[in-house]
Amino acid sequence: MNQESVNCLIIGSGPAGYTAAIYASRANLQPVLYEGFQSGGQLTTTNEVENFPGYPEGVNGMAMMEDIRNQALKFGADIREGVATSVQLSDTEKKVIIDDNLEITANVVIIATGASARYLGLESERKYRELGGGVSACAVCDGFFYRKKTVAVVGGGDTAVGDALYLAGLASKVYLIVRKNFLRASKVLQERITNTPNVEILFEHITKEVLGNESFVTGLRLEKQGNEEVIIDVDGLFLAIGHKPNTDIFKDQITLDENGYIVTEGKGSKTNIEGVFACGDVQDPTYRQAITAAASGCKAALDAEHYLQSK
Ligand code: NAP
Repeated sequence: MNQESVNCLIIGSGPAGYTAAIYASRANLQPVLYEGFQSGGQLTTTNEVENFPGYPEGVNGMAMMEDIRNQALKFGADIREGVATSVQLSDTEKKVIIDDNLEITANVVIIATGASARYLGLESERKYRELGGGVSACAVCDGFFYRKKTVAVVGGGDTAVGDALYLAGLASKVYLIVRKNFLRASKVLQERITNTPNVEILFEHITKEVLGNESFVTGLRLEKQGNEEVIIDVDGLFLAIGHKPNTDIFKDQITLDENGYIVTEGKGSKTNIEGVFACGDVQDPTYRQAITAAASGCKAALDAEHYLQSK
């Protein structure tokens, strides 16, 4: 296995990882950042970001991540493609294996691996997802294929409503399938969705099965509260039911909470291991915003700097 030693290693490339890279490079920590599976993180699958300060007209998620990445590059961050596949982290030793073939030893590690979309866990959902036949968790990536077609979005939060609004601009009809009798999304999005004529909200419906032919989704079998069965015809299904933190490689070494999020100390980014810091959605089950992720990336870089100074 190839080996390399670095001062500051950042794992992950959403707003948290890139912001940590901006601060760490300006503090001369010579950060090396590995971008992971999804360069730019979850925001690259978002169409319009309307609530990040500084963009009164809104900004495309992909474009914003490109800007933050370029800002980190400008200050000398070494940004690389590659996925952390295993780690060996303790107070005295920090080793991270990249793509199973490079062992990096670091003085300090910042974890910003984010979170990934959840699926319902139905066998039929897995089948069409694997076939690429009409099941997706990214409306912005795949919405284009459903022009003038009928689609369903499952979920009742900001993501689901935002996705349904986006898809309503492409598809002829969008069902929003909500398991409760209310939406959890922000008021402004709720108002917009109820005023969108080609969106039908099905409250208190649970998705039981994805129906389809050999290759593509053709419908959904739902259960309405009271056990009434409802079949709807759709060409595609979009999941927007929340996220799961990307912590599998850390689970036996770093303290996680009961939902798998990394536990950080107080208001900062310290984990239970000295010299290992965490920021962004991987340690935030509560706020999960681009702006809070960026802020926590800043904290992680400052905490890393103080740690290195104290050594
Ligand atoms: P979320 O707020 O956790 O909402 C998840 C939704 O999925 C809830 O409606 C939940 O229903 C539903 N759900 C969960 N499991 C389900 C299942 N098995 N079957 C059916 N429905 C299920 O997730 P999110 O919408 O991805 O948002 C995450 C965070 O990002 C939030 O803090 C949100 O404010 C933020 N966000 C913000 C924006 C923005 O523009 N500001 C955009 C996107 C996301 P219940 O309500 O019944 O639990």
